[in-house]
Amino acid sequence: MMSESSNESSSKELSSLQCLKCNKCGATFYPNQDGTMHFRWSTGAPGKLEDLASLVCQPYGNDECQNPERFTYNANADSWQKRREFIDRQKIEGWPD
Ligand SMILES: [Zn+2]
Repeated sequence: MMSESSNESSSKELSSLQCLKCNKCGATFYPNQDGTMHFRWSTGAPGKLEDLASLVCQPYGNDECQNPERFTYNANADSWQKRREFIDRQKIEGWPD
């Protein structure tokens, strides 16, 4: 009884996760069967998440970006995020004279 109802709810969750649209770069992300994702450019051509991240999402992305690889592509992504947090803090507290 419990297993049947949980199957129904999990299939509903899957359909809501089906694809992610990135407003920033115009790409749409689709889940692969192994749990990773791939994307298509706004032209419909398939591409790699890492390529999109290094070309568009890391230099130009913001919090709207849906690319799962945006912060995990390489070691620089971590320092980029730290830099962002530093800048955000300065906006709140004010830049030192
Ligand atoms: Zn993006």
